[in-house]
Amino acid sequence: MHEMSIAESLIEQIISVAKENSIVCVDEVEIETGYLKQIIPDVMQEAFKAVIKGTIAENAVLKITEISALAKCNLCKEEFTPELDNFLCPKCIKADVVTLKGDDIILKAVIGKEEKP
Ligand SMILES: [Zn+2]
Repeated sequence: MHEMSIAESLIEQIISVAKENSIVCVDEVEIETGYLKQIIPDVMQEAFKAVIKGTIAENAVLKITEISALAKCNLCKEEFTPELDNFLCPKCIKADVVTLKGDDIILKAVIGKEEKP
């Protein structure tokens, strides 16, 4: 399951964002998962629980929003929603396309308690 490696890189990002913002205890984490990454929310939640143990995000709640994919044809500039097994432009039926959205995992928010000055 690739959710585990995603969760591992996510927790590193979360900890560094928390440090930058003087957060000492993370309560909530929001991520956006691209459709093309095929993240299974339940599996992601389990992986997240495993990686937060012993960190400042140990009790954090993970919110996952799936983002649909968007691709653009290099030939006719048509923008369309690709399927996992079909990346052909619907107009020219060519595969000369770039992915605009839906191919990454984005850390949207790290919410928690800040250190008292
Ligand atoms: Zn096209």
